[in-house]
Amino acid sequence: MSKFIGAHVSAAGGVEMAPLHAHEIGANAFALFTKNQRQWVSKPLAPEGIAAFKANCAQYGLDARYILPHDSYLINLGHPEEEGLAKSRVAFLDEMRRCEQLGLQLLNFHPGSHLNKISLEACLERVAESINEALAQTSGVTAVIENTAGQGSNVGNEFWQLRYIIDRVHDASRVGVCLDTCHTYSAGYDIVGAYDRVFDEFDSVVGFGYLRGVHLNETKKVLGSRVDRHDSLGQGLLGLDFFRRFMRDKRFDNLPIILETPDETRWAEEIRLLRSFEA
Ligand SMILES: [Zn+2]
Ligand SMILES: [Zn+2]
Repeated sequence: MSKFIGAHVSAAGGVEMAPLHAHEIGANAFALFTKNQRQWVSKPLAPEGIAAFKANCAQYGLDARYILPHDSYLINLGHPEEEGLAKSRVAFLDEMRRCEQLGLQLLNFHPGSHLNKISLEACLERVAESINEALAQTSGVTAVIENTAGQGSNVGNEFWQLRYIIDRVHDASRVGVCLDTCHTYSAGYDIVGAYDRVFDEFDSVVGFGYLRGVHLNETKKVLGSRVDRHDSLGQGLLGLDFFRRFMRDKRFDNLPIILETPDETRWAEEIRLLRSFEA
């Protein structure tokens, strides 16, 4: 198998629960929050929880290369104000350190928001500097920038913006991107009608060499809406032909492919459906 598919599973009760949930749905990849995603501060990870997480991953054959933790929604690495920026950088460093402790190699995050107080470019520069600070204080974990739908003042909805950040990160070996298919479509990239053109553009502007993960989601919102509303496979506007084509596209081999679809009771069925599309 060259496609690694899973979902963003619950870590309620401890991070060590996440690999169990991934195994239950037939996944060979997964995403998780390593702390409460709606709080600034969480308790440090307990040594027993870290050991159990590693043991559970090993037991179910879940390799760190295909585990894509997601950071807290509160963090804004491009925050226009010093206080908010400093708070975000502290929290992001804590997220990176948790990944280090868990033996994980990737940390997925939304780049940030300019909040209509600074220019888009100034915001992207702050994001890059935030990444540089976190990478300088950690090792072994790659900062994975997720493309966004461009809702509100969120940056990162156009490919050039991802490249703009990457170009300003000092250690190119520890920065990458995650493409969310719902966000890509909502941001105005027609992955249904112009699949080849969009991914060729991604390759020329960012480069598949920087792709570290995919969030494979259906969308409720039309092309270019800039509204982020995920849907279950088979229900949204992308259609199953898109997912069939994606599953046969070798450029997405050997990466974590994560469902963030809204009905978790369907994840096992969605994974089986995707597997049935593999050539
Ligand atoms: Zn996300
Ligand atoms: Zn996502």
